[in-house]
Amino acid sequence: MCSVGDMFDVDISGDATMCEYVCSDCGKEFKGIGKNLRCPRCHSTNVKVK
Ligand SMILES: [Zn+2]
Repeated sequence: MCSVGDMFDVDISGDATMCEYVCSDCGKEFKGIGKNLRCPRCHSTNVKVK
């Protein structure tokens, strides 16, 4: 399960969960960890949790 918004309680040092994201600009789907992600195709930061 992934959630958007208040994710300040995420413990990155623990077992972080890979979430699926989709780029709002080019539609590329990719997996990543964290909040400030970039699209691997167009490098846009306009991504959201799938
Ligand atoms: Zn993109």
